[in-house]
Amino acid sequence: MIGLISATAAGAAARDRLAAAWPDRTRVYGGPVADAVRAAFAECDRLVCFLATGAVVRLVAPLLHGKTDDPGVVCVDEAGRYAVSLLGGHGGGANELAREVGEVLGAEPVVTTATDAVGLPGLDTLGLPVEGDVAAVSRALLDGEAVALRAEVAWPLPPLPVAAEGAYTVRVTDRIVEPAGGEAVLRPPTLVVGVGASKGAPVEEVLGLVEDALREAGLSAASVAELATVDAKAGEPGLVEAARRLGVPLVTHPAEALARVAVPNPSDAPLAAVGTPSVAEAAALVGGGELLVPKRKSAGSPAMATCAVVRRPGRGRLAVVGLGPGARDLLTPRARDELRRASVLVGLDQYVDQIRDLLRPGTRVLESGLGAEEERARTAVEEARRGQAVALIGSGDAGVYAMASPALAEASDDIDVIGVPGVTAALAAGALLGAPLGHDHVSISLSDLHTPWEVIERRVRAAAEADLVVTFYNPRSRGRDWQLPKALAVLAGHRAPATPVGIVRNASRADESVRLTTLAALDPATVDMMTVVTVGNTATRQIAGRMVTPRGYRWQEETR
Ligand code: SAH
Repeated sequence: MIGLISATAAGAAARDRLAAAWPDRTRVYGGPVADAVRAAFAECDRLVCFLATGAVVRLVAPLLHGKTDDPGVVCVDEAGRYAVSLLGGHGGGANELAREVGEVLGAEPVVTTATDAVGLPGLDTLGLPVEGDVAAVSRALLDGEAVALRAEVAWPLPPLPVAAEGAYTVRVTDRIVEPAGGEAVLRPPTLVVGVGASKGAPVEEVLGLVEDALREAGLSAASVAELATVDAKAGEPGLVEAARRLGVPLVTHPAEALARVAVPNPSDAPLAAVGTPSVAEAAALVGGGELLVPKRKSAGSPAMATCAVVRRPGRGRLAVVGLGPGARDLLTPRARDELRRASVLVGLDQYVDQIRDLLRPGTRVLESGLGAEEERARTAVEEARRGQAVALIGSGDAGVYAMASPALAEASDDIDVIGVPGVTAALAAGALLGAPLGHDHVSISLSDLHTPWEVIERRVRAAAEADLVVTFYNPRSRGRDWQLPKALAVLAGHRAPATPVGIVRNASRADESVRLTTLAALDPATVDMMTVVTVGNTATRQIAGRMVTPRGYRWQEETR
């Protein structure tokens, strides 16, 4: 819950806007400010105070307990210009809250936590449990001191500016280790614990078994990703509660799937009971991996639980990210996050330039020139297979005449692939022209480098006959000048000479240009490779200088 405290009328007005925006997340604390802050500090996990920072510092100072359990505190000034993350930036969530409050109130978030301010991921924000000398290692990363990365298991980490040797170490392991001074230990979720249980198996027995198995094998419970069992045991209270206490999901699999997994220790009892000769080992191994702890039974007599532990192979991560047509504010927040999440960035040099300032220190950039598409795709997939977090970038949408298909043609199912859509040129151009895509439309690339002209022409003809609005990508280059006139002639066979045509060059970039002409008047010499050409259908009209394709008369009558 987020506690809201204010003292003045202006503060109360801003407070009420926040409360209205987040009715289920906020609680207003009224009355004398000192009492309100005290009560909210005790009851809420985060506070927004519409008060001066100095006043809040004095009020919360006697209440402070420690970094791990104090709530995050954000202050908003009287004029609502700034949302200041005052206390608990990372652990307390105040940095994130300052950004969110900023969005609702139109205030500038003010974040002074060093790692956030310089764009480094705090070790505690990587989404992995972290132990050891976190403060010292974070400090060293910030100060630019040499920090070595010791990854004992492959895991797709965000970028960290690390060196080969150093007095400080970031260690990535699922083993129980005693962190040395200057060492931080990241816990990747690599372990799957397969569990079997008889009906009514007590949670203590299940949990005791799992904890003993991990400890004796030298494995950290912080690296357990999931408990896994057979579908029939999905509701077994001892398993459900054990998973809850470990803070991991209980994942279940059909008996038929488990029966197909080769295991070292099959037995008859589970075969009779649930239809698979192995539950614990099979459920742990079903996603592949290395069996670290073979099946063992709990101490009870009769033993009511079994478990087995598998280390699954670290899966690399390939994000295929569309950057949009050019303007920074047409790059989606999700694309921005993925660019900062990747430790390896692969792309065409001119696109890398477009977003270089967004990359975090330590990002490895693999850029190449025009024409090296296949090599780029292969590089990106190879890096992901090595367990890296990779972003493969393209302008517009990376799946439209771009890198997604060659990359995914190379990729096997041993990596995770995340697609981030981008604003493709046809949409960016459409918004500038008016509403040319208001009815059925198609995109056609006029590049015959990889597609025979006969195929392209057949598609243009089909679009002409079907009366589709057509957007031409790659319409014309120095060496390819006859294709556009030819394609327009095919369309002109089915559309009037006055059919509106939009020509948009460098949409959303510095030298953007937008022209509206007609099929008859279009001069192909004004078109180049930075341009898309959108040809209207037989219903498209020019209205008040804008290109408009009606949705259709029937629809307009229905809504009247
Ligand atoms: N993936 C890109 C398209 C790559 S093909 C996308 O989704 O937009 C390259 C062609 O796209 C160019 O020849 C041009 O026709 C078009 N294009 C890309 N960006 C453009 C922009 N900002 N303005 C106009 N056309 C653009």
